[in-house]
Amino acid sequence: MQFGNLSIELLETGDFALDGGAMFGVVPRNLWEKAYHAPDEQNRIPMKARCLLIRGHIGGKDRIILVDTGNGDKFPPKLAQMYKIDISRFRLETSLARFGVVPEDITDVILTHLHFDHAGGATSLDVMGKPYPTFPNARHYVQRDQLRWAQYPAEKDRASFLKENFEPLTGSGLIEILDGDGELWAGEDCSIRLHAVHGHTKALQTVMIESGVDNTKERMLFSADLIPTSAHVPVPYVMAYDNFPLTTIEEKKALLPRLYEEKWLVVYEHDGFMQASRITATERGFMRGDAITITEW
Ligand SMILES: [Zn+2]
Repeated sequence: MQFGNLSIELLETGDFALDGGAMFGVVPRNLWEKAYHAPDEQNRIPMKARCLLIRGHIGGKDRIILVDTGNGDKFPPKLAQMYKIDISRFRLETSLARFGVVPEDITDVILTHLHFDHAGGATSLDVMGKPYPTFPNARHYVQRDQLRWAQYPAEKDRASFLKENFEPLTGSGLIEILDGDGELWAGEDCSIRLHAVHGHTKALQTVMIESGVDNTKERMLFSADLIPTSAHVPVPYVMAYDNFPLTTIEEKKALLPRLYEEKWLVVYEHDGFMQASRITATERGFMRGDAITITEW
């Protein structure tokens, strides 16, 4: 999709599945099943791990930017089975190849956070089974508090941080440590800003892309696990995985009116059925709008 001066694609990296109850927290199954999808025999719901590919002249040079990297392909069989990881149809490298991009071309990788379903593809295994950075020429942007949280995780999200996904990056000097909100790059009539949120995990950075001027301005939010699927737009639909669910609620309440009023295109990284939508306001609160496809697969 052309997005002002930027070219933006939403890449498939494979399918996986997580427990439906954990994905919807206190929301009863009869409600989330209708809002999203019925679970399988192990109570897991179908999910995607998508990433954004942004190409354009921004921040003073031509960049090929990746936002998140999917689950990757390093999972031992037992974990792959537990999370129903399926890379038979799509994987990050082949999805990049569809746009003529090889891993060495990537100039920048924004990791929203370091949970395995976002950072897994950032490293790969060599023939000896040793992990190495998948994108050797890219700067990798991570929030300081997130990196620290990943290195010294709490019991609650310990299982989501796998050291092989980020230690090869810190060890090779490819990481740029960031502190809080700010504009990462600006170009001619476009900007990429990071906005940190702290409910899902410490310092998850959402990515806000704006392009164009004034009343023709286009806006896109890659919110990662703040709003992981379109069924998570309503304020109380918060994951049991979140470390600080009340913080997530406050963060959604602060952001949703703006997303609605400024007609932001909200990208759903994990939605198995919808890539993106605008936000609508109803008497029952904010909801997802009609499905918008960024990239056909
Ligand atoms: Zn996730």
